[in-house]
Amino acid sequence: MIIAEILQKKGNTVTAIDRNASIAEAIALLAEHRIGALVVRDQVGGAAGIFTERDVVRVLNAEGANALAQPVASGMTANPVTCSKTDKVNDVLATMSRLHFRHMPIIENGTVSGIVSIRDLVVERLERVETEAEAMRAYVAGA
Ligand code: AMP
Repeated sequence: MIIAEILQKKGNTVTAIDRNASIAEAIALLAEHRIGALVVRDQVGGAAGIFTERDVVRVLNAEGANALAQPVASGMTANPVTCSKTDKVNDVLATMSRLHFRHMPIIENGTVSGIVSIRDLVVERLERVETEAEAMRAYVAGA
């Protein structure tokens, strides 16, 4: 299974924020959309950075409430690892697990065309495993 199949189901909505927006604005967007990550685009639509709920915890712990007025660029991870629509779900899961993060922007022709979370990928894998187990049970019952 490849990433394109996940996007077909969940859509290719990307919630993005300007690198000069404040961290308080980023928190408001995360809360409003009930998501865990924002993409910070570069001038040509690529992924300049990613800002996640983990970054919120980190900057608040480091700087307290002063962090809220700082720009997103100061708290984001620059040049995030990305994947393409043709990448295998298993490979993307392995990368996320190895590098300890839970979000991956998808790049198509140099621009961000979607984002997947580890949850999206694990849910899809579980559904597939259950479907296969069900088919196996039906096969055994009918044998
Ligand atoms: P997460 O587990 O996705 O909330 O992210 C944990 C940390 O990894 C945060 O500091 C994020 O900014 C960073 N991060 C998240 N996704 C990526 C990515 N695709 N590439 C590089 N860093 C990332």
